[in-house]
Amino acid sequence: MDPTLFGVKPEELAHEASFVTPCYLIVHPKGTLIWDVGQVPDQDIPDDGTEAVVQGILKAKRRLSTQLAALGYQPKDITFLAMSHYHIDHTANANSFAASTWIVQRAEYDAMFSDAKRDIRSPETYSELKAARRITLNNEDHDVFGDGTVIIKSAPGHTPGHQVLFLKLARFGPLLLAGDLYHLPEERTLDRVPTFDFDAAMTRQTRRKVDEFLQQTGAVMWIQHDPPTYARLKKAPQYYD
Ligand SMILES: [Zn+2]
Repeated sequence: MDPTLFGVKPEELAHEASFVTPCYLIVHPKGTLIWDVGQVPDQDIPDDGTEAVVQGILKAKRRLSTQLAALGYQPKDITFLAMSHYHIDHTANANSFAASTWIVQRAEYDAMFSDAKRDIRSPETYSELKAARRITLNNEDHDVFGDGTVIIKSAPGHTPGHQVLFLKLARFGPLLLAGDLYHLPEERTLDRVPTFDFDAAMTRQTRRKVDEFLQQTGAVMWIQHDPPTYARLKKAPQYYD
């Protein structure tokens, strides 16, 4: 990625701006939630151990469904689907979860299905969600299982209805999956906003709110696209509890 897209000069970067795009499976006694669903659709990935498939700047080697199967799940078993936002690198396999209940902010839904031209959008990857069971939020937080352990939080700015995910893990403690509230840690330390955000002032306001929330809760924040963060974390089938 070109770091100047994110308001950061190459010489200001600690690492190269080469992103990873993880998906997260949340397992709760009352059901499951998948958070973000990949950047290359499974049907385009050979998944035979050969080279990764490349689509423009996006690349993937293993199907999401294969990785879920290794954990004992099929997409149709997943109770809830939520994506941080509608950009192409987060929605690739959304259609596979059309049997789940989709949790989305109204402003995001409207942007996703709007007839207006929108960049970084791939409507064919989520077209089947239109008929899915849906929980539509009005710029608000949502306690997914009703016990305060899995909370989707409204975090607009990057897109109109961007959201982040708060998890209260028994052993690990409080954790915030930041979606694309930040891509590079330097956006945070140098106070930079991506050039292509829907509303930069809104992003800054959301970031302030999230900082307050992190202080209140003592939560750790994971920047999803950040390679050094990804490198030090456990990956499936390992997990955090
Ligand atoms: Zn992204």
